[in-house]
Amino acid sequence: MNELLLAWYGQNGRDLPWRNTSDPYAILVSEVMLQQTQVDRVIPRWRAWLERWPSPDALAAASAGEVIVAWQGLGYNRRAISLHRAAQHVAAHGWPDDLTELPGVGPYTAAAVGNFAFGRDVLPVDTNVRRVQERTGSNFDGSCAQALFDLGATVCLARIPRCGECPLAAACPSRGQRYEPLRKQSAFEGSFRQRRAVALRAVAAGDQPSDSDALVSLARDGLVVLDGDRASLPA
Ligand code: SF4
Repeated sequence: MNELLLAWYGQNGRDLPWRNTSDPYAILVSEVMLQQTQVDRVIPRWRAWLERWPSPDALAAASAGEVIVAWQGLGYNRRAISLHRAAQHVAAHGWPDDLTELPGVGPYTAAAVGNFAFGRDVLPVDTNVRRVQERTGSNFDGSCAQALFDLGATVCLARIPRCGECPLAAACPSRGQRYEPLRKQSAFEGSFRQRRAVALRAVAAGDQPSDSDALVSLARDGLVVLDGDRASLPA
């Protein structure tokens, strides 16, 4: 199946800017941004980020507050803090062999950076990749990673896969099946996560929000510093 998939990818693969580099830092930034944010929204933010901080050294020299402000709108602000700490680690010690030693880097991100930047034959398995693996019953190697991302995002869709357009259909035991709707992600509107986001935006704008629960939670994650009732971005 690997050859069929790679031939399809050669014709149909998405042209995403982080696919044209093997710079581990640029790839790490893309992977962290893509964890919860859609590709179209990530592309301009990724470009702007690399223009401002083109290397781990540059990002490490920024203040946490600057990094948090630059992250606004991408969601899950803790990722910004982890990325900043990871850059500081790399600036001080270089890239570790075991990439999970970097703050905020779990097995998936380590596999993605290991593959796309360091040429390791490891497959980063996200929900799209896992779905194609399970439906086809096939073991794909690391060279198929980008192709699997794209097949899962555009053809082997969660509910109604487009088997008629799939390069793997002839050998796929699941072809033609339909699937139950996925559980909806819990609503952001009215959630504590939203309160945290509102409070952090206010602090970044120089205001003092009154939501102390949200502020305490943000302080615990290193996103704000509390001095009595006064909140500020970390230095
Ligand atoms: S044939 Fe259908 S179920 Fe199988 S991998 Fe292709 S799109 Fe997915």
